[in-house]
Amino acid sequence: MIKANNPDITSWISVDKHSDFPIQNLPFGIYTDASVKHHACSAIGNYIIDLYELAKRGYLADVKLDAELFNQPVLNDFIALGKSTTRALRDKLSDIFNSNNQHLKNNSDDAQAVLKLQTDVKMLMPVRVGDYTDFYSSIDHATNIGTMIRDPKNALMPNWKHIPVGYHGRSSSICISGEPVYRPKGQMKPADAEVPVYGPCKLLDFELETAFIIGKSTQLSESVSTEAADDYIFGMVLFNDWSARDIQTWEYVPLGPFLAKNFASTISPWIVTLDALEPYRTKGYVQEPKVLPYLEYTGDKNVDIKLEVAIVPENNIETIVCKSNYKYMYWTMEQQLAHHTVNGCNINVGDMMASGTISGPQPIEYGSMMELSWRGTKPVKMNDGTERKFINDNDTVIMRGYCDNGKVRIGFGESKAKVLPAK
Ligand code: CA
Repeated sequence: MIKANNPDITSWISVDKHSDFPIQNLPFGIYTDASVKHHACSAIGNYIIDLYELAKRGYLADVKLDAELFNQPVLNDFIALGKSTTRALRDKLSDIFNSNNQHLKNNSDDAQAVLKLQTDVKMLMPVRVGDYTDFYSSIDHATNIGTMIRDPKNALMPNWKHIPVGYHGRSSSICISGEPVYRPKGQMKPADAEVPVYGPCKLLDFELETAFIIGKSTQLSESVSTEAADDYIFGMVLFNDWSARDIQTWEYVPLGPFLAKNFASTISPWIVTLDALEPYRTKGYVQEPKVLPYLEYTGDKNVDIKLEVAIVPENNIETIVCKSNYKYMYWTMEQQLAHHTVNGCNINVGDMMASGTISGPQPIEYGSMMELSWRGTKPVKMNDGTERKFINDNDTVIMRGYCDNGKVRIGFGESKAKVLPAK
């Protein structure tokens, strides 16, 4: 067992039982405030842990990490040190905040410099994302979309159960939680129109996804096996892959998603390490037909992450419109990475690979408005008495995710963004 994952450890910081950040989580991020431009941090309870201050004050001497490593705008250099180092730091943080260790607690000047309330700081993009790939790996999502836009009898394309289908997205428009999203404009062809029109997208949607972040680079022509994949995956974030359905319908044949997808994606700010997620691993789908040998894997490689999506209009009356789970993924992260690199495509630290919309079998588990409102034919009832087919201007979309095995609950925080009218 990874030392920091020990469910019996408690902290001298009091942590609410519903908190996303018990001592067993210790995720990584980057924050700023009035006095700090950008420092790497972790989280515990309601606090961030300033890793630069911790290192500068000598608390990380055992793990031999220089404070300057944590005084950078992104975590790429830290992550690139590899799992043995990042794991050692998580273990060290677990020691420092263990209720049996009063060292930092008793040094109030140090504790004050290291701990800041999460509500007093602003989180920044945690990594520089070189390349971004989006998969399409939830069988319920792919079946729903195929049923709606093609043929219920042949909802899945012939390749779907053989290949973790994906496309290359655009990293420049990946945003951190809290940044607003402007309704995109573009070209659409309404069903009753003879010719295409240009204007603000009318069918703006979210896609409930997670993304994993590459923690180890490869050379061109090198492949990563499913067995080795976990060593290349640093951690995960929540990922809202904003989608303009009307732009998508008109543009996507034959080369797939383009401007309908690349105007914005919103991530949660904390990278929850794959290490911290290990206790929540669960069985994957039985894959039938059998996959090719390079996609075979052993062990429990899915993860039980409870996910939800809320829509909050300007009146602040929240409605949870979706409750899904990452365990519904047909293709695992390890298979996605093995497939992505099987041709020798190289990957770099900080690259982001998103899951694809995560839908479950029940209607409340559908991970997009496209599915929840069944292409606009079944409006979703909101708690304020209104209805939604898609997302309105000034709606805020919040995604949340957490794991809970009855012993320890760890969470991701939120991916949150307000939709503003088209510019
Ligand atoms: Ca997507």
